[in-house]
Amino acid sequence: MILRTDGIVLRTHRMSESSKVAVLYTAELGKVKATAKGARRPKSKFGASLEPFTEGTYVIYHREGRDLQTLSEGDILRPFEGVKSDFDRLIHASAIVELTDHVAVDEGPNPALYRALQEALSCLERLPGDRSETAFWLFQVHAAEALGYRPSLDRCAGCGEPCRQRRTRFSPRAGGVTCENCGEEGAVSLRAETVRFLARLQSSGAETAVGLDAPETIRGEVRQALRTFVEYHTEDRRPLRSLHFKDQVSITM
Ligand SMILES: [Zn+2]
Repeated sequence: MILRTDGIVLRTHRMSESSKVAVLYTAELGKVKATAKGARRPKSKFGASLEPFTEGTYVIYHREGRDLQTLSEGDILRPFEGVKSDFDRLIHASAIVELTDHVAVDEGPNPALYRALQEALSCLERLPGDRSETAFWLFQVHAAEALGYRPSLDRCAGCGEPCRQRRTRFSPRAGGVTCENCGEEGAVSLRAETVRFLARLQSSGAETAVGLDAPETIRGEVRQALRTFVEYHTEDRRPLRSLHFKDQVSITM
């Protein structure tokens, strides 16, 4: 079948002298891997529509069960150029698309995941450069929800009692914050302010998330909680390559 759908480019690689393979996350089909014939030629009809992070409308010849589909057209909707404007933004844009690629294993559309990806890239373009990590957090929180893992932040994920302590534990296994009784050994300890920050991320779109800020103590806890959470829910527990690369660079800089 021939299908026209909006999509966002997760990655591309060279297939031949003149052609590319593009991996897109699309609104209508979910993740699609497709060949784009002639896309590497200077005057290709695809233009810049297959640049990573670009949102476009794509025409796909789609056959069920086939691993590699065929792209026949691409038109840019939003290039999300701003996410490439500095190193930190680029790293987080890469982490966002890498995580999408990682979690979108089942063929099939997930409109909430598509929206999470759009919102995160849009937020990343507008955030001050030193806070670009917030867009990645926004994505993690909304992607978790889109995949059915929305963490509980107002009540203990174990017994359901409201959490009112100044510090709570955050347990990916339990599914969110837990009270003292339900807290398990090794769970991340969070300040009440951190839990509130996470809850605000949960209810924020791109626009609101741009305005979210907190001291580094809180941001550090958010970073640790989400990292643990995502590692728990992604099968092989491998850290994302882009963030690993960032850590390496930070150590050597
Ligand atoms: Zn409890």
